[in-house]
Formats: sequence, C-alpha cells, structure tokens
Amino acid sequence: MSTRRDFLAAWSRSAALCALAPLPFAQFGPVARASGGRIRVRAGGSAAVDRFPFELGVASGEPAADGVVLWTRLLDLPGDPGAGFPVRWEVAADDGFRSVVRRGRAAALAELGHSVHVEVEGLEPGRDYWYRFHAAGATSPVGRTRTAPAPGTRPERFDFVFVSCQHYERGWYTGFRHMADESPALVVHLGDYIYESGPGDRDDLVRLHDADEPRTLDGYRGRYALYKRDPDLQAAHAAAPWVFTPDDHEVDNDWAGDHNTEELGREPFLARRAAAFQAMYEHFPLRRTSLPAGPDAQLHRRLDFGSLMRLHVLDTRQYRTLQPCGGRRQPPCAGQYAEGATILGSRQADWLLDGLDRSPARYNVLANQVFMARLLEGEEELTLPMDKWDGYPADRNRLMTFLHERRPSNPVVVTGDLHTNWVSDLKSDFERADSPTVGTEFAGTSISSSGDGADTAPQGENALGHNPHIKFFNAQRGYVRCRLSAARLRADFRIMPFVTRPDAPIATRASYVVENGIPGAQQT
Ligand code: FE
Ligand code: CA
Repeated sequence: MSTRRDFLAAWSRSAALCALAPLPFAQFGPVARASGGRIRVRAGGSAAVDRFPFELGVASGEPAADGVVLWTRLLDLPGDPGAGFPVRWEVAADDGFRSVVRRGRAAALAELGHSVHVEVEGLEPGRDYWYRFHAAGATSPVGRTRTAPAPGTRPERFDFVFVSCQHYERGWYTGFRHMADESPALVVHLGDYIYESGPGDRDDLVRLHDADEPRTLDGYRGRYALYKRDPDLQAAHAAAPWVFTPDDHEVDNDWAGDHNTEELGREPFLARRAAAFQAMYEHFPLRRTSLPAGPDAQLHRRLDFGSLMRLHVLDTRQYRTLQPCGGRRQPPCAGQYAEGATILGSRQADWLLDGLDRSPARYNVLANQVFMARLLEGEEELTLPMDKWDGYPADRNRLMTFLHERRPSNPVVVTGDLHTNWVSDLKSDFERADSPTVGTEFAGTSISSSGDGADTAPQGENALGHNPHIKFFNAQRGYVRCRLSAARLRADFRIMPFVTRPDAPIATRASYVVENGIPGAQQT
C-alpha cells in the first residue's frame, strides 16, 4: 500500500510540475496526437509518465430504479479544448464491457470546468452496472454502480454506508479504501467533503492544503481537485453510487443562509456561495435539478429504494436563520425561540413532513448534517450547540411532534459534522426523559477530521451524563455501515485505531438496531 501511495504521490507531484511547464507540453503535443492523444511527458528527467484527463476519477450517484448519474471531470486536455470537449460514455452489465447496455456522447463544458454529468435511463432496477468514459484518446477507470430496487418491491437486504468530514490534512483516507472493499449498494455523504481553510501549521498533519482559503470559483475548483486526487477516495466513488449533501465547509465554516462568520457583507458572501456551489456541482454526480442558479441550489430531495427505504436528503444550511445568541456553544437563551428562527426554512420543513406522511417505505432515513438530539454539556455552566438543531428548537419540536402524532414508519436520522460517533433516541420532549421516543439518530464520526481520536473522550462522558436519550459515544475515525431489511436497520460503527499513518485496519466498535415498529436504538 505505502509503495503504491508513494508512487501515486510522486506521480501527482510530477504531473503538477508538468502542468506548470508549458515547454514540454508544447514539445510533446504533436507526438501525443499521433499516438491518439495520450500524452507522454518526461517529468524532471526521471521516468516518463502519462498525462491523463481522468486524474480525478469517476463517480456515480442519485440512483433511481431505472438509472443513475455518471460523473467525471476532464483535466489537462490537449491544446485548446474549446467550449465543449467531446466525451463518450458506456454502461455495461459486466465489468469487462462485453455486454454494453447503454452508450452515448456528452460534452465536457468549459463553463462547468469540463465536468461531465450523464443522467442514464433505461436500466434495470436493483442490479449492478459498470461504466467508463473515453476522451482525448484515453479511457477512464471503471466504476461500479447500482440501481435502486423497483418501486413497490422490498429486497431482502439493502446495505448502505454513511460518512462525513474528510479534512485532507488531518488523516489518510484509509476508511474509504475499507468502504470500497465492502461494496455497499449506496454511500450517503453528509458533508464537509472539503475544508476551506488554508494550509495548516499543526505538527501532526499528514499532508497540506496546496492553496490559501478559496473564495472564487477557481479557488474552490482547485480545492476539490486536490481532495479528489486521493486514490482511496476515488476507489470509494468507483465502488458504489453516492448521494451527497453539503454541510458548512463546502462554503465557509458555520455559514447560515446569507450570513457568514467572516466580515464579508451579504452580497460578497452570496457571490462566494455561488462560486462554492458551482464548484461543488462540478465535482459530484448530481442531477441537473441541482445545478446552481447563482447562490441558490436545490439540494433537498427524496430517493426511494423500493418500499424498503425512502431517503429524505436535507439541506440545513441554505435556508437557516443565523445561529442564535452568538452561535457556537451557549447557555440556553431567548434567541433560540425568536420569531421565524428556522434551520430548514418553512418550505423545506413542509416538504419533509409531507414526504414522511406520504412515504410508502418501511424505513424513512433522513440524511441530515448537524446533530438533531439535544446535546447539553458542561460543568458549572451547561451549554447547547447553537449551530446544531439545538439552536432551532421550533423546527425540532415541530418535527418531533409530527413523528409522535403522525407516526411515519421507522424514522431514522443519520448525521455527520461532530467528528464523533453517537447513538440517540429522539424524544417527543427532550426535557422529559420519560417522554415517548419517536425516532432514532445515528451520528457518524469523521473519516479523517480531528486526527486519530480515541475510544473515549471527556466530551462523551459529560454528554452521556446530561442527556439520558444518548446511548453511545466514541471518538475514533471511520464510517457507519447500515444493514437494512424489512425487520430491522442495523448500524455498525466501523472505526480505525489511527489515520495519521496509512493502512489502518478497520473493526466494528458497536452495533445498534432499530427494530421495525419500535422507535429508538437497541444495542446488539
Ligand atoms: Fe467536519
Ligand atoms: Ca460541519
């Protein structure tokens, strides 16, 4: 592994050097065209390397019963690629592409960073497919994807994982390699796919951001390209379709609606948000319906997996009001109850409750960014995290009351953001431990953010003491694997002992289940 990693690191360093040196490019360009566009460049007098337009890998996402979205982004195209560079794509029923079932042409548009989004239709439900692209005489790596089960059907088993928070500097993406090996039917990413900070100066960083904090389209494009060059991350994308929803660091730490935590005014911040959203769209297999219009992007959406699971994907950043009482952790305060305070916005809240009410699914999974259960912590002074649902009790009370009164089938919230693992019962009234449990929250740890971590931490001990609805805490890195059947959803907390060195093993630290018809988590 480390040999391969060293090779890839050297490979990408030399590729980066070449990108800065126009002379070899011009010199070898004609040779490249003669050999079908695959450009061989001698890097720094050492080994010859291929320049390759698919350096960022391939991905698929937004699985439906009859199709998926395929993605790639072309880099280092020969000569002047023009406004639209031609790309061919293929979808096959086998990994050797002997049985190609769909193929077509697409244009990698300069205005979208030469990204490619293909919405494939006409596939069969609930099965694996393989896909690849051809451009500039080169062929992309092969990705595996999987369509959703047919409407009305309930597969015996559906395995998915959820993951979040992958600070590039704080650890290796070993967890993504393990995730790829598990071949899940779906990966749900809950945000902090990039971090917007400049290069850090801690002494335990495994690698550095290669540019200052992005604020422009070019800046965000560069940050995604840096993250997406990681081979383990590429492997996880190539192993399964993803559903992605951003949190704060895709734009700026703790942003809220049209507010930001820096000194930018509203208009400059919305311009920055537009740049961040465009770069985000350019780097994910999102549907056309999520193409940003300026600073606005439609990111909350529903995906159905037969009648087994409905995935309600939330956007808890774009429509929220400013965090109350100064944000971060604060004692309970009047600002939490201000008129109009909201984390979802009223339209998204209506959409969510309507989608739960009409859901045909046995399990209703909410893909959610920030902690939903109450998280009271402290010693003398007890505080709440105002950036989480705790800062917006009106929206949370509305949802909890709805779950209690309307009883949608098996609501389970999956959450990212905190860089720690948590299992919580969702209560109709968090101030009363004996109030009915109305749902379950599984909050997953980071893949790398916050570094190695440990099994226990003072935060966990303290929070467990103040919040009787919280049942489990762990502060190591990894992801959560969910095994879903009509009878139960089992969540396996997959953790690694370290991420600041490569090749950590992975193990299940704890498993909890939500039995059909019984809200709340039970340890297995
Ligand atoms: Fe994070
Ligand atoms: Ca976050």
